[in-house]
Amino acid sequence: MIQKPRGTMDILPEDVGVWQYIEETARKVSAKYGYSEIRFPTFESTELFARGVGDTTDVVQKEMYTFTDREDRSYTLRPEGTACVVRSLIENGRCSDTMPLKLYYIINCFRYEKPQAGRSREFFQFGTEMFGAAAPQADATVIALADSFIKELGIKDTKLHINSIGCPECRPKYHEALVKYFSDNQDKLCPTCKERLKTNPLRILDCKCPECKALAADAPKTIDNLCPECEEHFGGLKALLDNAGIKYEIDPHIVRGLDYYTRTVFEFICDSIGAQSTICGGGRYDGLMKQLGGPALPGIGFAMGITRLILALKASGVEINSDNAPSVYIAPMGQAASIRAFELVEKFREAGIYAETDLVSRSLKAQMKYADKTGAGYTVIIGDSELESGKAQLKDMKNSTQTETELDKIVDYILNEVR
Ligand code: ATP
Ligand code: MG
Repeated sequence: MIQKPRGTMDILPEDVGVWQYIEETARKVSAKYGYSEIRFPTFESTELFARGVGDTTDVVQKEMYTFTDREDRSYTLRPEGTACVVRSLIENGRCSDTMPLKLYYIINCFRYEKPQAGRSREFFQFGTEMFGAAAPQADATVIALADSFIKELGIKDTKLHINSIGCPECRPKYHEALVKYFSDNQDKLCPTCKERLKTNPLRILDCKCPECKALAADAPKTIDNLCPECEEHFGGLKALLDNAGIKYEIDPHIVRGLDYYTRTVFEFICDSIGAQSTICGGGRYDGLMKQLGGPALPGIGFAMGITRLILALKASGVEINSDNAPSVYIAPMGQAASIRAFELVEKFREAGIYAETDLVSRSLKAQMKYADKTGAGYTVIIGDSELESGKAQLKDMKNSTQTETELDKIVDYILNEVR
Protein backbone atom coordinates (compact mmCIF):
# COMPACT_ATOMS: atom_id res chain seq x y z
CA MET A 1 0.00 0.00 0.00
CA ILE A 2 1.29 3.46 -0.85
CA GLN A 3 1.20 5.75 2.17
CA LYS A 4 1.19 9.52 2.50
CA PRO A 5 4.55 11.14 3.28
CA ARG A 6 5.44 11.42 6.97
CA GLY A 7 4.19 14.64 8.52
CA THR A 8 1.36 15.18 6.03
CA MET A 9 -2.35 14.65 6.59
CA ASP A 10 -5.54 13.64 4.89
CA ILE A 11 -8.54 15.68 5.89
CA LEU A 12 -11.50 13.35 5.52
CA PRO A 13 -15.07 14.53 4.84
CA GLU A 14 -16.21 14.00 8.44
CA ASP A 15 -13.35 16.23 9.67
CA VAL A 16 -13.46 18.99 7.08
CA GLY A 17 -16.18 21.02 8.83
CA VAL A 18 -13.80 22.59 11.34
CA TRP A 19 -11.40 23.58 8.55
CA GLN A 20 -14.22 25.27 6.65
CA TYR A 21 -15.36 26.98 9.85
CA ILE A 22 -11.86 28.38 10.47
CA GLU A 23 -11.45 29.45 6.84
CA GLU A 24 -14.86 31.15 6.74
CA THR A 25 -14.19 32.93 10.02
CA ALA A 26 -10.77 34.06 8.74
CA ARG A 27 -12.38 35.55 5.63
CA LYS A 28 -15.15 37.21 7.61
CA VAL A 29 -12.86 38.80 10.20
CA SER A 30 -10.25 39.84 7.58
CA ALA A 31 -12.97 41.60 5.61
CA LYS A 32 -14.04 43.57 8.70
CA TYR A 33 -10.50 44.93 8.94
CA GLY A 34 -10.33 45.75 5.21
CA TYR A 35 -7.98 42.94 4.22
CA SER A 36 -8.15 41.38 0.72
CA GLU A 37 -7.10 37.86 -0.13
CA ILE A 38 -3.89 37.22 -2.06
CA ARG A 39 -2.85 33.88 -3.59
CA PHE A 40 0.65 33.00 -4.73
CA PRO A 41 2.66 29.98 -5.89
CA THR A 42 3.30 26.93 -3.71
CA PHE A 43 6.98 27.01 -4.67
CA GLU A 44 9.30 29.94 -5.20
CA SER A 45 12.97 30.53 -6.00
CA THR A 46 15.05 29.26 -3.09
CA GLU A 47 16.80 32.61 -2.97
CA LEU A 48 13.55 34.33 -1.94
CA PHE A 49 13.51 32.46 1.37
CA ALA A 50 17.27 32.55 1.88
CA ARG A 51 17.12 36.34 1.60
CA GLY A 52 13.63 36.94 2.94
CA VAL A 53 13.50 34.56 5.90
CA GLY A 54 17.22 34.73 6.64
CA ASP A 55 20.23 32.51 6.07
CA THR A 56 20.86 31.88 9.74
CA THR A 57 17.35 30.82 10.68
CA ASP A 58 16.36 27.24 11.47
CA VAL A 59 13.77 27.43 8.70
CA VAL A 60 16.37 28.11 6.01
CA GLN A 61 19.18 26.04 7.48
CA LYS A 62 17.28 22.89 8.39
CA GLU A 63 13.65 22.92 7.43
CA MET A 64 13.23 23.75 3.76
CA TYR A 65 11.97 21.39 1.07
CA THR A 66 14.32 22.43 -1.72
CA PHE A 67 14.62 20.77 -5.13
CA THR A 68 16.08 21.49 -8.50
CA ASP A 69 13.86 21.29 -11.56
CA ARG A 70 14.77 19.76 -14.89
CA GLU A 71 16.74 22.82 -15.84
CA ASP A 72 18.73 22.86 -12.64
CA ARG A 73 16.98 25.83 -11.06
CA SER A 74 16.64 25.70 -7.29
CA TYR A 75 13.10 26.00 -5.95
CA THR A 76 11.65 25.63 -2.47
CA LEU A 77 8.17 24.68 -1.29
CA ARG A 78 7.03 27.74 0.67
CA PRO A 79 7.88 27.41 4.38
CA GLU A 80 5.84 30.57 5.12
CA GLY A 81 3.91 33.28 3.31
CA THR A 82 5.38 36.68 4.17
CA ALA A 83 8.36 36.61 1.79
CA CYS A 84 6.04 35.37 -0.98
CA VAL A 85 3.60 38.25 -0.46
CA VAL A 86 6.42 40.77 -0.52
CA ARG A 87 7.81 39.23 -3.71
CA SER A 88 4.39 39.34 -5.33
CA LEU A 89 3.73 42.99 -4.40
CA ILE A 90 7.11 44.07 -5.76
CA GLU A 91 6.77 42.01 -8.93
CA ASN A 92 3.23 43.25 -9.59
CA GLY A 93 4.09 46.89 -9.01
CA ARG A 94 1.75 47.29 -6.02
CA CYS A 95 4.16 49.18 -3.78
CA SER A 96 2.98 52.57 -5.05
CA ASP A 97 -0.72 51.80 -4.45
CA THR A 98 -2.64 53.72 -1.80
CA MET A 99 -1.31 52.77 1.63
CA PRO A 100 -1.72 50.82 3.72
CA LEU A 101 -1.90 47.57 1.73
CA LYS A 102 -3.75 44.90 3.69
CA LEU A 103 -3.62 41.30 2.57
CA TYR A 104 -4.49 37.90 3.95
CA TYR A 105 -3.94 34.32 2.82
CA ILE A 106 -4.85 30.77 3.76
CA ILE A 107 -2.08 28.49 2.54
CA ASN A 108 -0.28 25.21 2.99
CA CYS A 109 3.37 25.50 4.05
CA PHE A 110 6.18 22.98 4.16
CA ARG A 111 8.92 22.53 6.74
CA TYR A 112 11.09 19.51 7.35
CA GLU A 113 10.47 19.13 11.09
CA LYS A 114 9.95 16.30 13.54
CA PRO A 115 6.24 15.55 13.31
CA GLN A 116 4.31 15.67 16.61
CA ALA A 117 1.03 17.09 17.91
CA GLY A 118 0.70 20.60 16.44
CA ARG A 119 3.77 20.20 14.26
CA SER A 120 3.72 18.65 10.81
CA ARG A 121 5.72 18.84 7.59
CA GLU A 122 2.88 20.10 5.48
CA PHE A 123 0.91 22.50 7.64
CA PHE A 124 -1.62 25.26 7.10
CA GLN A 125 -1.56 28.92 7.93
CA PHE A 126 -3.97 31.80 8.04
CA GLY A 127 -1.74 34.85 7.66
CA THR A 128 -2.16 38.59 7.26
CA GLU A 129 0.26 41.32 6.19
CA MET A 130 -0.03 45.10 6.27
CA PHE A 131 2.39 47.38 4.41
CA GLY A 132 3.04 51.09 4.43
CA ALA A 133 2.01 51.84 8.02
CA ALA A 134 4.78 52.48 10.54
CA ALA A 135 2.78 53.86 13.47
CA PRO A 136 1.87 51.82 16.57
CA GLN A 137 -1.77 52.11 15.47
CA ALA A 138 -0.94 49.59 12.74
CA ASP A 139 0.60 47.17 15.27
CA ALA A 140 -2.47 47.53 17.48
CA THR A 141 -4.80 46.93 14.52
CA VAL A 142 -2.99 43.74 13.53
CA ILE A 143 -3.05 42.45 17.12
CA ALA A 144 -6.73 43.39 17.41
CA LEU A 145 -7.48 41.47 14.21
CA ALA A 146 -5.75 38.34 15.54
CA ASP A 147 -7.49 38.73 18.91
CA SER A 148 -10.88 39.25 17.33
CA PHE A 149 -10.43 36.21 15.06
CA ILE A 150 -9.48 33.96 18.00
CA LYS A 151 -12.48 35.21 20.01
CA GLU A 152 -14.85 34.89 17.05
CA LEU A 153 -13.76 31.25 16.64
CA GLY A 154 -14.64 30.62 20.29
CA ILE A 155 -11.13 29.74 21.52
CA LYS A 156 -10.81 30.40 25.23
CA ASP A 157 -7.89 30.90 27.56
CA THR A 158 -5.34 32.36 25.21
CA LYS A 159 -2.64 34.73 26.32
CA LEU A 160 -1.14 37.51 24.27
CA HIS A 161 2.59 37.99 24.73
CA ILE A 162 4.27 41.06 23.28
CA ASN A 163 7.83 42.28 23.10
CA SER A 164 9.92 44.78 21.19
CA ILE A 165 13.15 43.57 19.67
CA GLY A 166 14.30 47.00 18.55
CA CYS A 167 15.55 48.16 15.19
CA PRO A 168 18.85 48.25 13.29
CA GLU A 169 19.63 51.41 15.35
CA CYS A 170 19.47 49.84 18.78
CA ARG A 171 20.14 46.19 18.03
CA PRO A 172 23.96 46.29 17.62
CA LYS A 173 24.42 47.61 21.15
CA TYR A 174 22.03 45.03 22.48
CA HIS A 175 23.74 42.24 20.52
CA GLU A 176 27.00 43.21 22.11
CA ALA A 177 25.53 42.94 25.61
CA LEU A 178 23.90 39.65 24.73
CA VAL A 179 27.01 38.11 23.21
CA LYS A 180 28.99 39.17 26.26
CA TYR A 181 26.44 37.59 28.61
CA PHE A 182 26.29 34.27 26.76
CA SER A 183 30.03 34.15 26.08
CA ASP A 184 30.65 34.40 29.82
CA ASN A 185 28.35 31.41 30.28
CA GLN A 186 29.24 29.49 27.12
CA ASP A 187 29.76 26.13 28.78
CA LYS A 188 26.10 26.07 29.85
CA LEU A 189 24.76 26.44 26.27
CA CYS A 190 23.55 23.54 24.12
CA PRO A 191 25.66 22.78 21.00
CA THR A 192 23.15 24.50 18.70
CA CYS A 193 23.20 27.65 20.82
CA LYS A 194 27.01 27.65 20.90
CA GLU A 195 26.71 27.92 17.12
CA ARG A 196 23.94 30.54 17.44
CA LEU A 197 26.24 32.62 19.59
CA LYS A 198 28.34 33.18 16.47
CA THR A 199 25.59 33.42 13.85
CA ASN A 200 22.45 34.76 15.55
CA PRO A 201 22.67 35.23 19.34
CA LEU A 202 19.13 36.62 19.59
CA ARG A 203 17.84 33.16 18.74
CA ILE A 204 19.32 31.69 21.94
CA LEU A 205 16.52 33.44 23.85
CA ASP A 206 14.09 31.26 21.92
CA CYS A 207 15.84 27.93 22.61
CA LYS A 208 13.61 25.22 24.05
CA CYS A 209 16.26 23.24 25.99
CA PRO A 210 16.07 23.71 29.80
CA GLU A 211 19.71 24.79 30.35
CA CYS A 212 19.54 27.51 27.70
CA LYS A 213 16.12 28.58 28.98
CA ALA A 214 17.46 28.95 32.50
CA LEU A 215 20.39 30.96 31.25
CA ALA A 216 18.18 33.11 29.02
CA ALA A 217 16.02 34.05 32.02
CA ASP A 218 18.72 36.41 33.30
CA ALA A 219 20.00 37.57 29.93
CA PRO A 220 19.84 41.27 29.03
CA LYS A 221 16.40 42.13 27.70
CA THR A 222 15.71 43.85 24.38
CA ILE A 223 13.14 46.15 26.02
CA ASP A 224 15.81 47.50 28.39
CA ASN A 225 18.00 48.38 25.43
CA LEU A 226 15.66 50.16 23.02
CA CYS A 227 16.55 53.43 21.30
CA PRO A 228 14.20 56.36 22.11
CA GLU A 229 12.17 55.88 18.89
CA CYS A 230 11.62 52.17 19.55
CA GLU A 231 10.78 52.94 23.16
CA GLU A 232 8.18 55.44 22.06
CA HIS A 233 6.73 53.03 19.51
CA PHE A 234 6.39 50.26 22.09
CA GLY A 235 4.86 52.71 24.58
CA GLY A 236 2.36 53.79 21.94
CA LEU A 237 1.33 50.21 21.25
CA LYS A 238 0.87 49.41 24.94
CA ALA A 239 -1.30 52.51 25.42
CA LEU A 240 -3.53 51.55 22.49
CA LEU A 241 -3.95 47.97 23.74
CA ASP A 242 -4.61 49.14 27.31
CA ASN A 243 -7.22 51.60 26.19
CA ALA A 244 -8.97 49.04 23.98
CA GLY A 245 -9.00 46.48 26.80
CA ILE A 246 -6.79 43.97 24.96
CA LYS A 247 -4.87 42.19 27.69
CA TYR A 248 -1.21 41.32 27.17
CA GLU A 249 1.91 40.28 28.98
CA ILE A 250 5.35 41.59 28.16
CA ASP A 251 7.51 38.60 27.37
CA PRO A 252 11.19 39.47 26.86
CA HIS A 253 11.83 35.98 25.49
CA ILE A 254 9.87 36.19 22.33
CA VAL A 255 12.22 37.04 19.53
CA ARG A 256 10.43 35.09 16.73
CA GLY A 257 12.07 32.49 14.55
CA LEU A 258 12.52 34.54 11.42
CA ASP A 259 15.19 37.12 10.73
CA TYR A 260 13.14 39.92 9.33
CA TYR A 261 11.39 41.14 12.46
CA THR A 262 11.90 44.64 13.93
CA ARG A 263 10.28 46.35 16.91
CA THR A 264 6.98 44.67 17.84
CA VAL A 265 6.82 40.89 18.06
CA PHE A 266 3.89 38.98 19.54
CA GLU A 267 2.46 35.55 20.09
CA PHE A 268 -0.89 34.19 21.14
CA ILE A 269 -0.41 31.17 23.36
CA CYS A 270 -2.92 28.52 24.31
CA ASP A 271 -1.57 26.43 27.18
CA SER A 272 -4.24 23.76 26.97
CA ILE A 273 -2.99 22.28 23.68
CA GLY A 274 0.35 20.85 24.79
CA ALA A 275 3.93 21.69 23.96
CA GLN A 276 3.25 23.38 20.61
CA SER A 277 1.20 26.07 22.28
CA THR A 278 1.88 29.07 20.04
CA ILE A 279 -1.21 29.38 17.90
CA CYS A 280 -0.21 32.72 16.38
CA GLY A 281 3.14 34.36 15.76
CA GLY A 282 3.61 37.80 14.35
CA GLY A 283 5.51 41.01 14.29
CA ARG A 284 6.81 44.00 12.45
CA TYR A 285 9.31 43.60 9.61
CA ASP A 286 10.18 47.08 8.46
CA GLY A 287 13.33 46.03 6.60
CA LEU A 288 11.98 43.12 4.58
CA MET A 289 10.53 44.88 1.55
CA LYS A 290 13.78 46.72 0.88
CA GLN A 291 15.83 43.61 1.51
CA LEU A 292 13.90 41.86 -1.25
CA GLY A 293 14.49 44.64 -3.76
CA GLY A 294 11.40 46.78 -3.19
CA PRO A 295 10.92 50.23 -1.70
CA ALA A 296 11.47 50.77 2.03
CA LEU A 297 7.87 50.06 3.05
CA PRO A 298 7.25 49.07 6.66
CA GLY A 299 5.29 45.89 7.21
CA ILE A 300 3.54 44.01 9.98
CA GLY A 301 1.65 40.74 10.11
CA PHE A 302 1.05 37.40 11.72
CA ALA A 303 0.51 33.75 10.85
CA MET A 304 -1.60 31.22 12.69
CA GLY A 305 -1.20 27.46 12.43
CA ILE A 306 -4.59 25.99 11.56
CA THR A 307 -3.94 22.55 13.12
CA ARG A 308 -3.09 24.29 16.39
CA LEU A 309 -6.29 26.35 16.13
CA ILE A 310 -8.22 23.08 15.76
CA LEU A 311 -6.58 21.69 18.91
CA ALA A 312 -7.45 24.91 20.73
CA LEU A 313 -11.07 24.76 19.51
CA LYS A 314 -11.34 21.20 20.84
CA ALA A 315 -9.80 22.23 24.16
CA SER A 316 -12.33 25.08 24.34
CA GLY A 317 -15.19 22.64 23.76
CA VAL A 318 -16.37 24.30 20.55
CA GLU A 319 -18.60 21.92 18.57
CA ILE A 320 -18.75 22.50 14.84
CA ASN A 321 -22.02 21.43 13.31
CA SER A 322 -21.29 20.31 9.76
CA ASP A 323 -24.59 18.57 9.15
CA ASN A 324 -25.25 17.92 5.48
CA ALA A 325 -28.35 15.73 5.41
CA PRO A 326 -30.47 15.90 2.27
CA SER A 327 -33.65 17.90 2.60
CA VAL A 328 -35.51 15.65 0.23
CA TYR A 329 -35.04 12.07 -0.90
CA ILE A 330 -37.02 10.96 -3.95
CA ALA A 331 -37.45 7.21 -4.24
CA PRO A 332 -38.50 6.11 -7.72
CA MET A 333 -40.00 2.74 -8.63
CA GLY A 334 -39.35 1.82 -12.24
CA GLN A 335 -37.71 3.40 -15.23
CA ALA A 336 -40.25 6.17 -15.95
CA ALA A 337 -40.32 7.25 -12.30
CA SER A 338 -36.56 7.32 -12.21
CA ILE A 339 -36.52 9.79 -15.12
CA ARG A 340 -39.08 12.00 -13.35
CA ALA A 341 -37.11 11.72 -10.07
CA PHE A 342 -33.96 12.96 -11.77
CA GLU A 343 -35.86 15.93 -13.21
CA LEU A 344 -37.26 16.73 -9.76
CA VAL A 345 -33.99 16.52 -7.83
CA GLU A 346 -32.41 18.87 -10.36
CA LYS A 347 -35.33 21.32 -9.83
CA PHE A 348 -34.75 21.14 -6.07
CA ARG A 349 -31.04 21.78 -6.49
CA GLU A 350 -31.73 24.74 -8.78
CA ALA A 351 -33.88 26.16 -6.01
CA GLY A 352 -30.96 25.75 -3.60
CA ILE A 353 -32.25 22.65 -1.83
CA TYR A 354 -30.17 19.54 -1.31
CA ALA A 355 -32.07 16.63 -2.85
CA GLU A 356 -31.08 13.05 -3.59
CA THR A 357 -32.46 10.17 -5.57
CA ASP A 358 -31.30 6.63 -6.22
CA LEU A 359 -28.02 6.21 -8.13
CA VAL A 360 -27.16 2.62 -7.29
CA SER A 361 -30.37 0.72 -8.19
CA ARG A 362 -31.53 0.00 -4.65
CA SER A 363 -34.84 -1.70 -3.97
CA LEU A 364 -37.55 0.57 -2.57
CA LYS A 365 -37.01 -0.85 0.90
CA ALA A 366 -33.26 -0.26 0.70
CA GLN A 367 -33.86 3.27 -0.58
CA MET A 368 -36.03 4.11 2.41
CA LYS A 369 -33.40 2.72 4.73
CA TYR A 370 -30.77 4.85 2.99
CA ALA A 371 -32.93 7.99 3.26
CA ASP A 372 -33.39 7.33 6.95
CA LYS A 373 -29.68 6.69 7.53
CA THR A 374 -28.60 9.86 5.76
CA GLY A 375 -31.11 11.90 7.76
CA ALA A 376 -33.28 13.13 4.89
CA GLY A 377 -35.89 15.66 6.00
CA TYR A 378 -38.60 14.55 3.55
CA THR A 379 -39.11 11.50 1.35
CA VAL A 380 -41.32 11.02 -1.68
CA ILE A 381 -42.06 7.72 -3.37
CA ILE A 382 -42.87 7.92 -7.07
CA GLY A 383 -44.31 4.94 -8.96
CA ASP A 384 -46.57 4.53 -11.98
CA SER A 385 -49.72 5.65 -10.13
CA GLU A 386 -48.04 8.85 -8.86
CA LEU A 387 -46.84 9.61 -12.38
CA GLU A 388 -50.36 9.13 -13.68
CA SER A 389 -52.12 11.25 -11.03
CA GLY A 390 -49.30 13.81 -10.84
CA LYS A 391 -49.55 13.59 -7.03
CA ALA A 392 -47.48 11.87 -4.39
CA GLN A 393 -47.29 11.46 -0.62
CA LEU A 394 -44.61 13.69 0.85
CA LYS A 395 -43.44 12.23 4.12
CA ASP A 396 -42.02 14.48 6.81
CA MET A 397 -39.41 12.23 8.37
CA LYS A 398 -39.18 14.13 11.62
CA ASN A 399 -42.88 14.11 12.48
CA SER A 400 -43.77 10.98 10.47
CA THR A 401 -46.66 12.86 8.86
CA GLN A 402 -47.72 12.56 5.21
CA THR A 403 -49.14 15.21 2.90
CA GLU A 404 -50.46 14.67 -0.59
CA THR A 405 -48.56 17.05 -2.86
CA GLU A 406 -48.69 17.81 -6.57
CA LEU A 407 -45.39 16.75 -8.15
CA ASP A 408 -45.33 19.91 -10.26
CA LYS A 409 -45.54 22.06 -7.12
CA ILE A 410 -43.41 19.98 -4.79
CA VAL A 411 -40.38 22.28 -4.99
CA ASP A 412 -42.48 25.33 -4.06
CA TYR A 413 -44.10 23.35 -1.29
CA ILE A 414 -40.76 22.44 0.28
CA LEU A 415 -39.43 25.97 -0.23
CA ASN A 416 -42.38 27.26 1.81
CA GLU A 417 -41.91 24.58 4.42
CA VAL A 418 -38.21 25.30 4.80
CA ARG A 419 -38.74 29.03 5.15
P1 ATP B 1 7.42 27.17 16.41
O1 ATP B 1 8.21 27.89 17.45
O2 ATP B 1 6.20 26.51 16.97
O3 ATP B 1 8.25 26.27 15.55
P2 ATP B 1 7.65 29.21 14.42
O4 ATP B 1 8.20 30.39 15.10
O5 ATP B 1 8.55 28.35 13.62
O6 ATP B 1 6.83 28.31 15.46
P3 ATP B 1 6.19 30.80 12.51
O7 ATP B 1 7.15 30.66 11.42
O8 ATP B 1 6.05 32.08 13.19
O9 ATP B 1 6.38 29.61 13.55
O10 ATP B 1 4.73 30.36 11.98
C1 ATP B 1 3.54 30.91 12.51
C2 ATP B 1 2.63 29.84 13.07
O11 ATP B 1 2.52 28.74 12.19
C3 ATP B 1 3.12 29.22 14.37
O12 ATP B 1 2.79 30.01 15.46
C4 ATP B 1 2.38 27.92 14.38
O13 ATP B 1 1.04 28.11 14.84
C5 ATP B 1 2.34 27.54 12.92
N1 ATP B 1 3.41 26.57 12.60
C6 ATP B 1 4.71 26.81 12.36
N2 ATP B 1 5.35 25.67 12.06
C7 ATP B 1 4.42 24.68 12.08
C8 ATP B 1 4.45 23.27 11.82
N3 ATP B 1 5.56 22.64 11.47
N4 ATP B 1 3.31 22.58 11.95
C9 ATP B 1 2.15 23.19 12.30
N5 ATP B 1 2.06 24.51 12.53
C10 ATP B 1 3.17 25.26 12.43
MG1 MG C 1 9.47 26.54 13.93
